[in-house]
Amino acid sequence: MARYLLSLIGWIAFAAWLLLGAQGCERCDDFTVRGFAPAEVEVLHAAADAWEDASGGRLRVSLDGGDSTIDLVSEPPHRVTAPEGSRVLGTTRTKWDGTTAVEVLDDRGHPDWLGRLYLVALHELGHHFGCGEFYGRGRVMSIIVEDAATWPTATDLECAE
Ligand SMILES: [Zn+2]
Repeated sequence: MARYLLSLIGWIAFAAWLLLGAQGCERCDDFTVRGFAPAEVEVLHAAADAWEDASGGRLRVSLDGGDSTIDLVSEPPHRVTAPEGSRVLGTTRTKWDGTTAVEVLDDRGHPDWLGRLYLVALHELGHHFGCGEFYGRGRVMSIIVEDAATWPTATDLECAE
């Protein structure tokens, strides 16, 4: 009897976890990832995980694609070119169907390329979640990559839908 009860409690807890997990996830979108090397894809996962962990699971992107129309791409068809001296490294566009395309400028060869890729992906995913630019230091949404936070701050989370 005790064993049966324990098993029942287990199943109820599991069902509650499923239900709460599903409700807690407000923005759960699939991205397709194109044009990145395996080490870079790992970095993109780390950026997505940062948003998920910082928001307690509320903001989640899956990078496993499926039939997603949302892209995370490097070397996009309309290649993003940073003007001389500029530090624009990524763009986020809303496409005609309302989905977002996140593009990361190919800055391979930069001494800390993977570190920059992480910060740019973190920032561009913030746009996807509804955040605008921050013209100051210390946030994921800081417009200059060298000034950006490495983890979503409370203020970053506030602007995210
Ligand atoms: Zn931006």
